[in-house]
Amino acid sequence: MNGECYFCHGLVLADESEDIVLQDHGDHRVFLHRQCAAGYNVIETRVGPSSGADVVCPVCGDVESL
Ligand SMILES: [Zn+2]
Ligand SMILES: [Zn+2]
Repeated sequence: MNGECYFCHGLVLADESEDIVLQDHGDHRVFLHRQCAAGYNVIETRVGPSSGADVVCPVCGDVESL
């Protein structure tokens, strides 16, 4: 499913791997463009054997791993 970017309100396509979808996150879903998340400093890329990223939910402040 698609949604609106929390920051710029542009369309986020859930099947675009570049974009970020926090699903089943509390009672809200959050859609973010990766570049918007980076611009607002809510994404932290992990380095090391388990590649991935941690995202701070802009709605509730919880950290979600991608
Ligand atoms: Zn955006
Ligand atoms: Zn949240």
